[in-house]
Amino acid sequence: MHAIQIAETGGPEVLRYTEFPAPTPTEEEVLVDVTVAGVNYIDTYYREGIYSAEKPFIPGFEGTGRVVYDPQGQIAEGTLVAWHHAFGSYAEQVCVSRNGLVAVPDDFPTEIAASMLLQGMTAHFLSHGVYELGEGDTCLITAGAGGVGQLLTQMASSLGATVYTIVSSDEKEKISYACGAEHVFRYREGWGEQVRRLTGGRGIDVVYDGVGQSTFFESLEAVRARGTVALFGAASGPVEPIDPQLLNKHGSIFLTRPSLGAWTAQEGEFKMRAQAVVQAIMDGDLKLNVSASYPLEEAAQAHRDLQSRSTTGSIVLRVTPD
Ligand code: NDP
Repeated sequence: MHAIQIAETGGPEVLRYTEFPAPTPTEEEVLVDVTVAGVNYIDTYYREGIYSAEKPFIPGFEGTGRVVYDPQGQIAEGTLVAWHHAFGSYAEQVCVSRNGLVAVPDDFPTEIAASMLLQGMTAHFLSHGVYELGEGDTCLITAGAGGVGQLLTQMASSLGATVYTIVSSDEKEKISYACGAEHVFRYREGWGEQVRRLTGGRGIDVVYDGVGQSTFFESLEAVRARGTVALFGAASGPVEPIDPQLLNKHGSIFLTRPSLGAWTAQEGEFKMRAQAVVQAIMDGDLKLNVSASYPLEEAAQAHRDLQSRSTTGSIVLRVTPD
């Protein structure tokens, strides 16, 4: 089969389109023909070596495609499925854990199916788990026009929260307002204080910060006393270790570094979050914007675009025609 291989970690140029032996599923997995693979920021962390994997490896976690072979004979060949946690998804075939699959209706748009679970369930656990947003709450979301950012903004505003976002351009500002943000800011120095002033000095109930290094300290400025900062990513780089006393200084705030893995680990949790996302998309309550799609061979360009902040919403790789 064809796949994107990483032999050495590094920049986007290490993503090489090549021949690779097809994988063999265990009893707990099914083999799938990948139609479209989702591209997520976490894929860049593996490519750069921030998260490690045994080399050579095929990156990617998410996608949609049709089941080729189920060793237990439970899932029929040809069934259309989506997944968010099958390492090696930038490939024509991948093995997916049977517990991590969702069935997808045949008429579901393929590019949406490929990119809805990882970012959608992240938005879900942040808004329904890490901090259960409700009527009258305020939240601040960094990278409001990004993949997670757009979905989280929509979920937060549909839960009745007032949403503040940070973005880097006029185009992104428009997108963020269209998703339901009420106040959209830029990353100017002191934006944390600016946001706080807009809340009458009180501060924001919960800050969802997926940008990390360049925004973290402003996020601490923006949050209210006893509020929560959910540092859920590091698009600008990882945050340096901090003195816990800093949390006291900002008014006994709660700091968490949550992961989708931990927030889907309990019995039934993956299915509950996945179903909530799929249902919201089918009902038209959640709009997923796939802003760019690339052939699998051009995975390096997809990573360049994602890391140069030129993308909005989700982006995908077209692997094989459906
Ligand atoms: P995005 O589509 O949000 O892309 C990243 C965005 O971050 C950019 O578009 C850009 O938006 C912003 N950004 C700010 N500074 C930088 C910088 N220096 N370099 C690059 N981008 C920058 O990506 P995703 O939706 O895939 O992921 C968003 C975040 O969520 C990531 O940090 C990711 O790791 C995290 N995540 C965490 C999960 C978890 O389980 N904890 C699960 C899924 C995602 P702008 O130009 O507006 O600033």
